[in-house]
Amino acid sequence: MIHGKSLDEWCTRHPLIKQLVALEQVTWFNPAIAPAAVALADVGLTRADVRDASERLRRFAPYLALVFPDTAALHGIIESGIQPLPHLQQRLAQEADLPAAGALWLKKDSELPVSGSIKARGGIHEVLKHAEDLAVEAGLITLEDNYEVLSGDLARAFFSHYKIAVGSTGNLGLSIGIMSAMLGFQATVHMSSDARQWKKDKLRACGVTVVEYASDYSVAVEQGRLQARDDPACYFVDDENSPHLFLGYAVAAERLVIQFKHAGVIVDADHPLFVYLPCGVGGGPGGVAFGLKLVFGDAVHCIFAEPTHSPCMLLGVHTGLHDQVNVQAFGIDNVTAADGLAVGRPSGFVGRAMQRLVDGYCTVNDEELYRLVFLAHELEQVRLEPSALAGAPGYTRVLGDTAYLQRLGLSAAHLNNATHLIWGTGGSMVPATEFAIYLARGQALQAAHDLATSSPDTAAD
Ligand SMILES: *Cc1c(COP(=O)(O)O)cnc(C)c1O
Repeated sequence: MIHGKSLDEWCTRHPLIKQLVALEQVTWFNPAIAPAAVALADVGLTRADVRDASERLRRFAPYLALVFPDTAALHGIIESGIQPLPHLQQRLAQEADLPAAGALWLKKDSELPVSGSIKARGGIHEVLKHAEDLAVEAGLITLEDNYEVLSGDLARAFFSHYKIAVGSTGNLGLSIGIMSAMLGFQATVHMSSDARQWKKDKLRACGVTVVEYASDYSVAVEQGRLQARDDPACYFVDDENSPHLFLGYAVAAERLVIQFKHAGVIVDADHPLFVYLPCGVGGGPGGVAFGLKLVFGDAVHCIFAEPTHSPCMLLGVHTGLHDQVNVQAFGIDNVTAADGLAVGRPSGFVGRAMQRLVDGYCTVNDEELYRLVFLAHELEQVRLEPSALAGAPGYTRVLGDTAYLQRLGLSAAHLNNATHLIWGTGGSMVPATEFAIYLARGQALQAAHDLATSSPDTAAD
C-alpha cells in the first residue's frame, strides 16, 4: 500500500503513474498553473529577497575574483554565457517530424566558474551567506567593507572554528566543499553511492572530508543533518528545504535579462520564452524558475526535466503528495546516469511553492541523454554532461502538444517568435577520459537510432 491505496488504485486514479512505473518517457503539463501575479505569493519569498541575494553576491565579488582566478574576467560575478543551438534545433525538430519553430538556445551553466555546474549558484550563495553572518557578527567585516580581507589569515583562522555539512550526489558537494574550504571552514560532504570518484578525489584534494554511503541521496542528506544537529558549530546546508540555496539560483534571472538584451532576444506576450530545467531535488530549477517568473511573468514557461528512473518532482506534484512520497514507493529504482538528478524524494518546499508556476514536467531515459550529449557535441561543439541535456527533448515535447499550446492561447505566430532555452546544468569539469566514454556511448546509441528510424527508401540509397 502507498498512502492507503494499492498501486493499481493509484494507476486508475492517475493513469500517468502507470507510465512512470513502466519507465516510459512522459510529458505532463499541469492544468492547475496560475498567473504569476497570483501564484508568486505561494512561494513565501519575494523580489526583495532575490535582490538581497544578488547584493550579497556583489559584495563578495572582489573576494571571489581574488581567490578564484577563473571568476576574474567577470570581476568575481559567477555567471555563464548563452549560445544559440541552430543545428541541434534542426535535428530535434526533424526527429520529431515538426517544423523547427522559434529559436533554441543554451544556457551554459556547465561553464560556471568554481564548480562547473548550476550548483555554483545556490551552493556558493548559501556558504557566503553563512560566512557573512558569522563574520559580521564577530566584527570581522561590515557590509560596506571590501571583502578581500576575508582571504587573509585572520579570517581563515576565524572560519576554521566552524563546520559546514551537506549531503549530495556530487555536484552540490563540490560547490559547497570547494567554497567552504577556500574560506577556511571545516567542510564535510556526505556523498551518496552514485557520486563519481573524480568528485570525491577533487574534494579531498581541497581538504574537504568526504563520507561515503552505500545508499542514495536521501540517506546522505539525513546523515549531514544528523552531524549538524548535535553540534552548534556545524551549519547544515539543507538541499531539501533551503531558501538561501533557492535565492542563489533565482539571481540567474536578472542576469539572463541583460544577456538576452545584448543578444537581441525579446521576451514578452508576443515572444514567449520556454525554459527547460533539469530537476533533481528541485532547488536549482525551482529557484531559477522563481527568478524567471519574477522578471518575465507570464511570458516565461518553465518545464522541469527528470530521468525516467527518478521522476520525483513529477510524482510529488502530480499526486499532491510532494515530499511525503518517494519514487521507490512506486517501485521506481532511482538509478540513473544523470548526476545530480538521482533523487527519489522531491523538496516539499519547492514542490508546494512552485506547483502553480511550473508549466510542465517531462521525463527522459539515460540512452536519450547519452545520445544528446553526443549530438550537442557533434553539432554545436558544446560539452555537457548527461543530466545537463535532460531539458533538450522538452523543445519538441512542447511543440508537439497542441492541447497545451491551445490552453495557453499560443498561435503559430507566437511559436515562430518564441525562444526555447535549454538550461545546460553541468559538464565542464567532467574529466576528459570520462567525457570520452559518454561520447562513445552516445555515438553508438545514435548509430542504432539512425538505423531504427531510417525509412526503407533512404536505407536503400
Ligand atoms: C543538482 C543538479 C541539477 C538539479 O538541481 P536540483 O536542485 O537538485 O533540482 C541539475 N543538473 C545538474 C548537473 C545538477 O548537478
